[in-house]
Amino acid sequence: MQYHQNGFRTGDPRIEPALAERHIDKGVVDVLIVGCGPAGLTLATQLSAFPDIITRIVDRKSGPLQVGQADGIACRSMEMFEAFGFAEKVAREAYWVNETTFWRPVEGHGDIVRADRIQDVEDGLSEFPHTILSQARVHDFYLETMRNSASRLVPDYDRKLVDLTITDDPHHPVTATLEQLRDGEEPAKEQVKARYVVGCDGAHSAVRHLLGYDLQGEAARQLWGVMDVLAVTDFPDIRLKCALQSASAGSLLIIPREGGFMVRLYIELDELVGDERASDRNVSEQVLIEKAQSILRPYTLSVKEVAWWSAYEIGQRICDSFDDVPEAEKQTRSPRIFIAGDACHTHSPKAGQGMNVSMADTFNLGWKLASVVRGHAQPKLLQTYSSERQAKARELIDFDKDMARLFSTRQETSVAAEFQRYFAKHARYTAGVETRYDPSIITGSGQYQDLAQGFQTGMRFHSAPVIRLADAKPVHLAHTIKADGRWRLFAFAGEGDAGEPGGAISGLMEFLLNNPVSPLRRPETENEDVEAFLDVRAVFQQHHRTLSLTYMPELLLPETGRYGLIDYEKIFCPVVKNDHDIFDLRSINRRSGALVIVRPDQYVAHVLPLDATHELSEFFLGFA
Ligand code: FAD
Repeated sequence: MQYHQNGFRTGDPRIEPALAERHIDKGVVDVLIVGCGPAGLTLATQLSAFPDIITRIVDRKSGPLQVGQADGIACRSMEMFEAFGFAEKVAREAYWVNETTFWRPVEGHGDIVRADRIQDVEDGLSEFPHTILSQARVHDFYLETMRNSASRLVPDYDRKLVDLTITDDPHHPVTATLEQLRDGEEPAKEQVKARYVVGCDGAHSAVRHLLGYDLQGEAARQLWGVMDVLAVTDFPDIRLKCALQSASAGSLLIIPREGGFMVRLYIELDELVGDERASDRNVSEQVLIEKAQSILRPYTLSVKEVAWWSAYEIGQRICDSFDDVPEAEKQTRSPRIFIAGDACHTHSPKAGQGMNVSMADTFNLGWKLASVVRGHAQPKLLQTYSSERQAKARELIDFDKDMARLFSTRQETSVAAEFQRYFAKHARYTAGVETRYDPSIITGSGQYQDLAQGFQTGMRFHSAPVIRLADAKPVHLAHTIKADGRWRLFAFAGEGDAGEPGGAISGLMEFLLNNPVSPLRRPETENEDVEAFLDVRAVFQQHHRTLSLTYMPELLLPETGRYGLIDYEKIFCPVVKNDHDIFDLRSINRRSGALVIVRPDQYVAHVLPLDATHELSEFFLGFA
């Protein structure tokens, strides 16, 4: 991480200096977030990076989550945590899912046996592992990051959203009514005027309800029993993620938990029909323990302590729109109210997607809101949130339906084998790295994809190791992409180009720095650092000991901060491992090089030739 840029300071560099004393009127905000679950906290943390944006986050609960709910953290979410600065903390504390086993009954006599054991995440898929950690701890890391930001953002608990109205106030058109919940007293009403409201308020979302939207989908909802237990067992795979299907007692998912002793058991129960609720089924922790014991038989399970348990219903459902603008009005107005996470899609926990997809929704929305509020992008950018994320939620629901079909309680051996194949085949999907956004104003058509096949347009920027030229530090290239709302340009130099004048890299940097149509030369960022909107970096093909800093273009050694200190962290060289470097790993054309444009949420927006300056400026003019 970089610090001391604006002068020496002591103490923990992760705690941003707070903005000078400012009075914030909590009744008039830029963005009001309803709900402190994973969706709301991802958004709040993203927005807290911008102290010039007034953000408020409220929850009807009286404090942070302590136990339970989701626990699976996909590789892609770990990559996102890296951008927020806490991936290492999660990796240190979490259980790592390295291998998965499958158990099913022996045909004829019914005892369960291990049918297969597979690697959970294929080599090279991500630099981060698939991890398991309590959702409550993930919340804690977000809350800490928000608190340490220059905004010093903290949630307002005991606030329940009860109403939303659109007014003709041109600046703050949404008025939200909150009830302040007070022990034993009538709730006090409070009104908040906002430019934007985001409903991250879970499956029973008030925001969705107030927009007049419904979740559409299956009428029958699956009932799940889940418990975190400390138990003694002779089942040998208790410390491995394990999908277990018994002959007649049902199915069980074992998820070992952080800390080495606790384990989560997911037990699929029956479907709820009509108005039936989970509470109508009288599920108790004893019922769940007995069910788990019978599925595991002949192995024994002696539960010593139940840390948390729940029986909760899941329907595979989705909302028609994730914002307040009906299809017919999309050309004429931009959204003001959004819904994210469980508020707009629900699915089973089998693939461990609940928390991951909710966070991905608001990681997609956060930078867009920040760009529009700060005047870095046109409001039409906000329309891409619903179109991009709704398409992904639909894919997830289709996937979940297939998983549900194959993981039902009474199974033939052949179906159990099919489930196992399906599970393994879709490991990339569940790792969260298969998401591909369609071409739009912020995602190119892939016309020049051949120049860098390993950076697929619309997919996340797949990191690879490089070495930083100035200090010879091995780093991961994608770790330069912080959650700071900036776009990135990665210029991969062609063969022989050492950054000297007359070369393609030099020409591109000259265009970016000085040409009036450069995306860096924008009137609204005139008073900001030259790279406030766009961060430019270059990767050369030479060994770091042979490449010289001396002839590098000015933009790759920019003067920053109040002293004009030089930023030396923009230039990288290859690391060769097993005869492969980043150019091989990501199939970058060595002869011509390539320019890769990356969105603030780490998705590849475009791949261009290094000299395609016209296309480059046209691309940014499309929305900025
Ligand atoms: P949530 O995490 O539901 O957060 C919504 C927040 O909004 C809550 O804090 C709520 O208090 C607040 N809120 C709601 N209404 C209002 C209002 N009107 N005003 C103000 N605040 C409001 N997933 C798994 O993968 N595995 C599991 O075992 C699992 N167990 C779960 C158990 C339970 C009881 C629940 C509810 C969910 C569980 N899930 C599980 C699902 C997973 O937790 C969710 O997919 C994930 O939390 C969704 O995140 P979210 O931010 O969209 O919503």
